[in-house]
Amino acid sequence: MTVEPDARPAAAARSRTLRVSEVTQETKDSVTISFEIPDAMVEEFKHVPGQFITVKIPSDRTGHVARCYSLSSSPHVEDFRLEIGIKRTENGYASNWLCDNAMTGMELTVLPPSGHFTAKNLDVDFLFFAGGSGITPVLSLIKSALVCGGGEVTLFYANRDAESIMYEGQLAQIASEFPERFTVFHWLESAMGIPAPEDVESAIREHRGAQIYTCGPAPFMDLVQKSAEACGVEHASVHREVFQSLTGDPFETATMRQLSDDDGVATATVYLNGQSITTEWPRNTPLLDVLLAQGHNAPYSCREGACSACVCKLVEGDVEMAQNHILVEDDIADGERLACQALPLTDAVTVSFDDL
Ligand SMILES: Cc1cc2nc3c(=O)[nH]c(=O)nc-3n(C[C@H](O)[C@H](O)[C@H](O)COP(=O)(O)OP(=O)(O)OC[C@H]3O[C@@H](n4cnc5c(N)ncnc54)[C@H](O)[C@@H]3O)c2cc1C
Repeated sequence: MTVEPDARPAAAARSRTLRVSEVTQETKDSVTISFEIPDAMVEEFKHVPGQFITVKIPSDRTGHVARCYSLSSSPHVEDFRLEIGIKRTENGYASNWLCDNAMTGMELTVLPPSGHFTAKNLDVDFLFFAGGSGITPVLSLIKSALVCGGGEVTLFYANRDAESIMYEGQLAQIASEFPERFTVFHWLESAMGIPAPEDVESAIREHRGAQIYTCGPAPFMDLVQKSAEACGVEHASVHREVFQSLTGDPFETATMRQLSDDDGVATATVYLNGQSITTEWPRNTPLLDVLLAQGHNAPYSCREGACSACVCKLVEGDVEMAQNHILVEDDIADGERLACQALPLTDAVTVSFDDL
């Protein structure tokens, strides 16, 4: 195995410092943070609608914590601007720190955009189900689909009450700009209770054929997923983003980890950034670590099976995942695997990061 330890890209090498250009109070318990992107970083921070960045938040207790925040800005609409929307989590740490401390001129360390809650084709009909802060990646997708595509875009947006609606003004503005193509339906739990399967199913039936995207609390997304199944929507047309806190530290140096005792070697063929890479793959080492150790620019963020930044598609052979907190059964049946957790089960394995 020809791994040069010094060739391993440290996460520090991927970290960037961005200056906060504006902080806007969205609701009483949420803020939008806008970042200035220096010219030299514009390419690196060009995101795909639906992606997130990972933010390093200082802590007296642990030095820092890392948290992912979806980008609400659209690369297709705004002049180059990067915005995240943060909602306070009860008894949480990072979200409250950001809501309390973020201010214009502050510098924050972040990892560049990643994630797969994205659309291959923006020129289709979309049906979005957002709950609470789950609106952030959805807003980016909505703005992008309206500008780049020609389909109908519908948003079912659930909140506790009218005061909790993030981006209400922006959504109303978009609705007035695209009256023929964009419809927003606000579901307020204070007045309407928790949405029932028939409420979600009737929206899905009304927009049959649309790509369904959902982001919000787990029970809300489960409801959308089950309703889509009940309406006969195929799994590939339902996309979900899970918001959860990282427990590891993607800002630490990316050292090689050993996830099993098996020290045999398999062969990996990997399609990545338009290249085909064939390499020896120690059976105890996650595929992502093998690629990073060789200096390949493989996508990743959490390295703990929680964020999906490193998703790749199994083309041939088989792998097991040491941990998986994000892919559901159907994703796995579709061949999706987390490279940060993937260990080879067969002597030869082919995966693709390019063709998801
Ligand atoms: C892909 C993705 C996208 C996301 N997008 C968004 C988004 O757009 N908007 C949004 O609001 N959220 C988003 N999230 C969720 C976000 O990453 C956080 O999970 C959320 O903000 C809650 O974090 P928190 O630290 O406030 O709460 P918690 O994680 O619940 O905080 C409690 C944790 O912090 C630790 N802790 C407490 N005090 C301290 C301290 N002083 N120092 C160090 N640790 C401490 C505790 O031990 C405990 O582990 C996203 C998550 C993912 C994975």
